[in-house]
Amino acid sequence: MPSTAFEAFSPAKRMFRCPICKGKMSLSPKRSLVCKHGHCFDLSARGYVNFLAGAAKSRYSADLFANRRTILQAGFYDPVLDALHESIARRFPQGRVCVLDAGCGDGFYAKALSQEARMDVYALDNAKEAIQLACRGDTGVKWMVANLADIPLRDGTVDALLNILTPANYHEFARLQSERGILIKIVPGSRYLGQIRELAAGQLRSASYQDEATRSYFESHMRLLAEKELCYTRPVTPEQAEAFLRMTPMTFGVDLHSIHAARLREVTIHLHLLIGRRLTEKASGSSGTVKIAKT
Ligand SMILES: [Zn+2]
Repeated sequence: MPSTAFEAFSPAKRMFRCPICKGKMSLSPKRSLVCKHGHCFDLSARGYVNFLAGAAKSRYSADLFANRRTILQAGFYDPVLDALHESIARRFPQGRVCVLDAGCGDGFYAKALSQEARMDVYALDNAKEAIQLACRGDTGVKWMVANLADIPLRDGTVDALLNILTPANYHEFARLQSERGILIKIVPGSRYLGQIRELAAGQLRSASYQDEATRSYFESHMRLLAEKELCYTRPVTPEQAEAFLRMTPMTFGVDLHSIHAARLREVTIHLHLLIGRRLTEKASGSSGTVKIAKT
């Protein structure tokens, strides 16, 4: 496995940018990415590069990512993967496509997309626990522990940037987008995991998702090219119910022992895919109140 990971990084060395001095990087025989100033980041034996000095701090535990993996592997988010695949294929019908999953968690989407040979997939998360889970097996994905505010890739290199149910950094996203590049951001719809919200009612700070705020923030930084809505409800087993309760930041601060997981018999996945392209320099310099009329 380590040699495969090394091979995956080798042709990709031109893609990387030193997160400290912003210079080009090269791959040393010692399996490190090094810039001309000597800033050095080792490729771990497990097949990822850690660009964060010291311990990566994350709000999320390894337990959360493991539960999320249980749910993802059970197929609950397969329609989301299909929608991503379709959106990328429609914009890039042929040739190589450079994909970056920014905030990849356990790497479910990155891994699945990398199975298509023409997809050159990079994935980052600031949680080392997530990347260590993601990089298991022979994936061909370039895994990175890195900060969203300082993504270690060069300007204009990414064709399809994915940002799935996780915070965005639009300044970085705009910098990375290639000339034909798009951003696919997935945000929760009003009914997303509504059954869990009902079970935890009284313990949650807000009764529903504030998806309008996220959307207008998106539209103040990106030109909305297309939008797709997904909404479906699936039955869950008692084991899956437990995993669902423990996989979402929604239940942070909720006393999970007080919730009867057995009462969770189905879940609704309600999501919006927002597909955008960076605004022109002039437009993106304006304040965050740009409104784009939609039909
Ligand atoms: Zn450097």
